Amino acid sequence: MSISVLVINCGSSSIKYALVSERHEDRIFGLAENLGSAEARIKGITTGDKALELLIPHADHEKALETILERLSHYNPQAIGHRVVHGGTLTKAELLTPEIIDRIRAATPLAPLHNPAHLVGIDATMRLFPELPQVAVFDTAFHQTMPAHAYRYAVPKFLYTEHNVRRYGFHGTSHAYVSERGSELAGSYKQGGWLTAHLGNGSSTCAIWNGQSVDTSMGLTPLEGLVMGTRSGDVDPSLHSFIANNLGWDIYKIDKMLNSQSGLLGLSNLSNDMRTLIEASEEGNEDAALAIEVFCYRLAKSLAALSCGLPRLDGLFFTGGIGENSAYIREKTLSYLPHFGFNFSQEKNDSLKRGTEGRIDAGTGPQIWVVPTDEEGRIAKETEQVVIHEVNQATSKKSEAEFAMA
Ligand code: ADP
Repeated sequence: MSISVLVINCGSSSIKYALVSERHEDRIFGLAENLGSAEARIKGITTGDKALELLIPHADHEKALETILERLSHYNPQAIGHRVVHGGTLTKAELLTPEIIDRIRAATPLAPLHNPAHLVGIDATMRLFPELPQVAVFDTAFHQTMPAHAYRYAVPKFLYTEHNVRRYGFHGTSHAYVSERGSELAGSYKQGGWLTAHLGNGSSTCAIWNGQSVDTSMGLTPLEGLVMGTRSGDVDPSLHSFIANNLGWDIYKIDKMLNSQSGLLGLSNLSNDMRTLIEASEEGNEDAALAIEVFCYRLAKSLAALSCGLPRLDGLFFTGGIGENSAYIREKTLSYLPHFGFNFSQEKNDSLKRGTEGRIDAGTGPQIWVVPTDEEGRIAKETEQVVIHEVNQATSKKSEAEFAMA
């Protein structure tokens, strides 16, 4: 059995959507952006790779979803899969019931920017499509297999037991897809020890042993770990009190600075976009060059640290906008890991075309692959699995009841 799934990723001012056909062969996808403003619009790709641009002035989330769903309804999606950033301690994708929605709401203090927007989307699609099964797929779920020594912080225990302060990890859908697909390409499907580097505007690394996440670079929130587009990643925790005491900033201002004015943007004082920084550094901009160097060094350091979670290292997968497209960043990062025995092939790395899967090592030592991520495809697959499981359970309950009555 296979079903078509509408994947919804509802952010604070945008909604990404993708309709994934049965057997996952075709896609229609798009983005509703600038919601709530006069410039609200839907941009997308329809069947036959045709571009779509539709103005929806002042549309809110519900109006935008209504328009998207109207346009897609003749394709008869059979289920809706919602990307949800924080699922707290939920370990897998779940059918949306009042109880699961309450648990998403309860995880809001852990993802204050993301979960409220997801709840708006869930509320709207539930009202617009009450008859369709809807599933939440969590960014955090894949990392729920981490052992306690990887997910606990060295802070007083009550913060964990009473306030859920622990490392959760994010980008789980991408790490799960890429490690599964990559290990399949390497001929050892979901076996062995792998590192993944998801490098986009948000970036994170993950260590995977026999298909399960054993450690990851993001923590309680998506701020921990690597240098990102606008996020600082790891800093000395005392930076907060240093800035508060010396600059008089409050905690909200410091948090905003670390989330939206730091990372590549903060270091370069130019841009959060890696392409812009590479171009600027080629033209002699020293701040851009340093931002790139810090990014690659910190990424290599994180990969080296996460390898401690693996009994054996079989290889490394690069993904995300930067990991898939920049041979330069891959090469620079690997140059900081000579002791790992990677036998990097410059020729294969340079010749890999954008958005394609490929191996970039010379055949000895741990393997190195580029694996384009497919978060929408993975959300559609997990949604389908949940729906089919529910249908099977309902069928077996019905037959049991019929048997009992006979
Ligand atoms: P998001 O996390 O928002 O999904 P993406 O995965 O699309 O982001 O990644 C965006 C990043 O990828 C940007 O920093 C962009 O500059 C970078 N990027 C895209 N193509 C290239 C390229 N050819 N070389 C270097 N960086 C690239």
